[in-house]
Amino acid sequence: MPLARLYDSRKRILVTGGAGFIGSHLVDRLLGQGHEVLCLDNLFTGTKRNIDHLHTNPRFEFMRHDVTFPLYVEVDEIYNLACPASPVHYQYDPVQTAKTSVHGAINMLGLAKRLKCPIFQASTSEVYGDPAVHPQTEDYWGNVNPIGPRSCYDEGKRCAETLFFDYHRQHGLRIKVARIFNTYGPRMHHADGRVVSNFIVQALRDDPITIYGDGSQTRSFCYVDDLVDGLVRMMDSTPEQTGPTNLGNPGEFTILQLAQMVLDMTGSRSEIVFKPLPQDDPKQRRPDIGKARAELDWEPRVDLQDGLRKTISYFEKILPEVNLA
Ligand code: NAD
Ligand code: UDP
Ligand code: UDP
Repeated sequence: MPLARLYDSRKRILVTGGAGFIGSHLVDRLLGQGHEVLCLDNLFTGTKRNIDHLHTNPRFEFMRHDVTFPLYVEVDEIYNLACPASPVHYQYDPVQTAKTSVHGAINMLGLAKRLKCPIFQASTSEVYGDPAVHPQTEDYWGNVNPIGPRSCYDEGKRCAETLFFDYHRQHGLRIKVARIFNTYGPRMHHADGRVVSNFIVQALRDDPITIYGDGSQTRSFCYVDDLVDGLVRMMDSTPEQTGPTNLGNPGEFTILQLAQMVLDMTGSRSEIVFKPLPQDDPKQRRPDIGKARAELDWEPRVDLQDGLRKTISYFEKILPEVNLA
């Protein structure tokens, strides 16, 4: 670590998955607060485009690395976000997905243990599976298929949570576990496969809007700036506040409603087509955010209409470049 750091109160922060959608927004926020950021990513689903604007910043450093391998660096805080998040991507190489969650967690926890530094884990609402309790509170243990096509992700994240709490109990690590609900915004990959980016890209290209099933399943969509605010508040919370804590927007919409909103807002000529519902697709999802409100004084501020407007503007800007590539 540079000697100048001895006289400096700013932190050096590791963000794994930092070239991804949420990670790159978190990196921007931390740099904006004056910290140094080590952004680590294997660029599986992330892209250099998301961090291109940062390379002239002397407090930013990029490292291409896979979290399933050990990592020896010196930092003051760790945000562990590395993991593909879209069903299409995490099912592409399910064994690697499970390794990323489990071996990745072990390596990052081992690093935090050596450095005695706080560590944040990006867990997910998928730990609740196809929930039998609605809305989902943190004390619900979930309804997850351990052997289905989504299990590499769901069970990988559940095991990562187990490891975080065992390192906390066994080694006294200062942990922060957030269960993130569906999040959207600029820098989602245009071919990411998740519903918000799919619908917007399809609408802007006047391609058919693909609804899986009859569109009556629900999701709650959180704008990325709100989510990042929650992640940082969690890291800055007291040591007793380990989580797990739900972070998401409690506004709940059917997928059909979302499709209609995107069509209205883009003025698209796209037609709606119905495709088969993927196996184990959760029927409903909405966070109970009482714990985040009470412990972090956090709640989302951007409603779906405003967030979609910003996301549509982003895709309007990048799609012409992507179409040419
Ligand atoms: P993303 O795919 O855009 O970002 C994930 C990043 O991790 C990518 O940059 C990818 O290249 C990197 N990565 C994947 N495997 C890696 C490995 N083995 N080593 C190093 N880097 C690796 O997805 P996102 O939406 O930004 O999600 C970020 C985190 O938040 C993930 O852990 C995800 O599970 C979690 N999460 C996201 C959502 C959401 O709705 N976006 C919801 C719940 C949880
Ligand atoms: N590890 C790492 N960086 C470190 C310290 C540990 O990547 O600075 C990894 C290493 O691969 C190790 C894992 O974290 O296997 C777990 O570390 P821990 O100290 O818990 O266990 P052990 O070293 O006994 O396996
Ligand atoms: N979905 C859809 N059309 C698409 C992509 C997704 O109808 O083009 C549905 C999907 O089946 C699920 C919901 O939208 O019911 C959210 O899917 P996403 O992949 O965004 O997230 P997750 O299923 O992990 O919540």
